[in-house]
Amino acid sequence: MVDWLTVTSTANLTREECAQRAAAVEPEAYRLHLNLSTAPDATAETFTSTSTIVFAATGDQTWVDVIADEIERATLNGEDLDVSTYDGARLPVPGLQERNELEVVARCRFSRTGEGLHRFTDAEDENTYLYTHFEPTDARRMFACFEQPDLKARFTVRVTAPAEWVVRSGQAEVERDETYLASGSTATVTFGPTPPQSTYLVALAAGPYHVAEDEWSVSRDDGTEQIVPLTLLCRQAMAKHLDADDIFEVTKQGLTFFDETFGFPYPWGKYDQVFVPEYNLGAMENPGLVTFTEDFLHRGRSTAQQREARAEVIMHEMSHMWFGDLATMRWWDGLWLKESFADLMGYHVASAATRYTDAWTAFVARKSWAYRADQLPSTHPIVATIDDLEAARQNFDGITYAKGASVIKQLMAYAGADAFFAGAREYFARHAFGSTELDDLLVCLEEASGRDLQTWSRLWLQTAGISTLRPDVTRDGSGAITRLVVRQDSTDPTTGEQVLRPHRIRIGLYSPAGDGLERTGLLEVDVDGAETAVPEAVGSTAPLLVLNDDDLTFAKVQLDEGSLAVLRERLSALPETLTRALVWSDVWNATRDAALPAADFLDLVIAQAPREPEGALLRTVLERALVALRDYLPADRRPAAAERLVTALDAGMRAAEPGSDLQLIWARALAGAAGDTPAGSPLARALLDGGAPEGLEIDDDLRWALWTALTAQDAATTDELEEQLRRDRSMSGRTAYVRATASRPTAEAKQWAWQRITTDEKLTNDELRSLILGFIAPSGAAETTRFAGDYYASLVDWWRARTQTMALILAVGLFPKQPLQAGQAPEDNPAAAAASAWLEANADAPAGLRRSVLESRDDLLRALRAQEAGAATTGTPRR
Ligand SMILES: [Zn+2]
Repeated sequence: MVDWLTVTSTANLTREECAQRAAAVEPEAYRLHLNLSTAPDATAETFTSTSTIVFAATGDQTWVDVIADEIERATLNGEDLDVSTYDGARLPVPGLQERNELEVVARCRFSRTGEGLHRFTDAEDENTYLYTHFEPTDARRMFACFEQPDLKARFTVRVTAPAEWVVRSGQAEVERDETYLASGSTATVTFGPTPPQSTYLVALAAGPYHVAEDEWSVSRDDGTEQIVPLTLLCRQAMAKHLDADDIFEVTKQGLTFFDETFGFPYPWGKYDQVFVPEYNLGAMENPGLVTFTEDFLHRGRSTAQQREARAEVIMHEMSHMWFGDLATMRWWDGLWLKESFADLMGYHVASAATRYTDAWTAFVARKSWAYRADQLPSTHPIVATIDDLEAARQNFDGITYAKGASVIKQLMAYAGADAFFAGAREYFARHAFGSTELDDLLVCLEEASGRDLQTWSRLWLQTAGISTLRPDVTRDGSGAITRLVVRQDSTDPTTGEQVLRPHRIRIGLYSPAGDGLERTGLLEVDVDGAETAVPEAVGSTAPLLVLNDDDLTFAKVQLDEGSLAVLRERLSALPETLTRALVWSDVWNATRDAALPAADFLDLVIAQAPREPEGALLRTVLERALVALRDYLPADRRPAAAERLVTALDAGMRAAEPGSDLQLIWARALAGAAGDTPAGSPLARALLDGGAPEGLEIDDDLRWALWTALTAQDAATTDELEEQLRRDRSMSGRTAYVRATASRPTAEAKQWAWQRITTDEKLTNDELRSLILGFIAPSGAAETTRFAGDYYASLVDWWRARTQTMALILAVGLFPKQPLQAGQAPEDNPAAAAASAWLEANADAPAGLRRSVLESRDDLLRALRAQEAGAATTGTPRR
């Protein structure tokens, strides 16, 4: 056994000690052998991992990272090492020579949390599947290594597994030996050595995967040719949902785009994409073997919006083959270097190279992640200071991804797209297979664009907080603009200093035309400083001004009253989808800021959404309506508003074209909201009992959502849920059943769910998430409030006893909330006060845990302020 205190402290690598290690050791090659032949046996909890590292050293000692149940033995240059010094995370390695060969044989654990080598057994067909996820530092859960991104090496992976399994790693298979045993034959598969790469990018998938194959090829103008074999993998039970043609088409479009644009041939040989269950995130860019959550394979009918979202993620990961995998950040404070860029490329390439030409609309929704993150107390500059791994893990956030991408988009507008890609090509040419920092990229971009980017970098990358842009408009008696000034307001919340940034924006001028709106002007403006006059606007009578039209910059835009009045009547009549997405984003930000009452936002949705023709945007707007209802509306107004909302969703569904994506999007939104009000139950029942509108197929996922809504109102029986489980025994069916059961608003159901959530450590990541989603269903709020005390009493234990991923699922998912009571100040709300008291009493709790509670409290206070403002506008007495 290992003392957790020791493990958590030594597992948490710091930037400084990693920099020291990088100066003292230089790995050349790893040879890994993983014996996974017992993996199908559920009682076998561990596997044997042999890691042989060849490396040069200058000092006389170092350590390797490995998280294992036990180290069986270790040798350095043929001599036994003392493994009794192993503390559960690090093995000291004394007695180094100039050149060394270290072998570590460890018993590592199959993961159930999605970190390390994850094992999943499908209850439907009893097939067992393995896959890895290592970023940032979970390679050490599978093999001993120098776990830091700048210590790149060549990896040769060898795996022993059941002979009938498909086994894949980053490189192609080069050798296969089969051993015939009475107990089941095994195969030992060896993969070719990788180019130099970081430990977190080593990857493996093994199991009876379903496989689809294709290839991409190119003949370039310079006479070179390249063929890249393409493979898609998923578990057998999902094979019927794998739309290989669509995924291959997008994959090839991406490879062609990157080949032409990056000027560096695809560096990793083959390109496998594997869709896996129980995955903690969207996807991961392992070179040559990209992993995706199998949520991207659609069990029922899918909408164009769902396929577009998948295409964006395929492009995001593919761009990492260059940005991140080929040129890699030296340490985790450079995480944004790869993520900002990849996030932007996801949308850019989807819109430029695939049929999803509207992809920038989805990017507007993506930016809401950044708006939230940049207003939290935990916000930080894009170029963050990451002192250790715990901090690194939590910086996979809205700043690093969505804000970074938005700022790079602004850089493209500022420096020009051609110069931008020329700089990127130079960056790859110089830093291929190496490690990089911010300046390495800036130098290349400066050379290509001829612009000084130091000031730009300081203002955009090295400060935190959002700029607010506001039109200050004066009109004459006829409505013509006599003066337009763009006002910028921006304070870095981490320093309290004003940071006025340069913004290249467009201002759209819109006027009524018949029932609709037309763009009567588009002004390109360089906003600089606190006030920027826009003389070109003078004389225009357009009543609607859209700042940041075409979405070039990252800023919060405040609408003027005149524009808002036009939008209330005609928002859906704006001709461009991107513009509609932007103004919906502006009114949503205003709702979150308590500047626009949530009731007004709901009115706007109910009036305008039925006329919204674009699926991705409609879905976003309907989801926000539900958040407005649950979090931002004063509690006493929610019952009536919920009834009104589900009625509108039902009407939207029934008015939509039969069989259309829009019909399905309305139906899913209805199922998602129906559990919030008794008025939702007959609507959900009607859909289940044959009353669906023409063209709407009720597939298993939609069916489960409807049953969950009914159970949340205690309007479905246990027998009915079990009957649905008999219909759908898939993995999704089982987790949906658990969620539905936990959503019942009774004391018994909540007690059962709480018990399982907090004490059953055998639950997988997905099972835990499903239970929590059921537990926190709004209709059960009266019953769940009493667990708040338990929550705060358990937080530190969760952090100690669970992995960081699982602890965060608990800490974030179960955070106790209560609505604002009449006359109560937000800070005095019992839930907010309890969070504050915990933070005060636990000043020395781990930083990652404190960050989670701080962020949840901030979200709660934001919601309470919106409730307070909403109550004030309706004259609810404040005592
Ligand atoms: Zn990424």
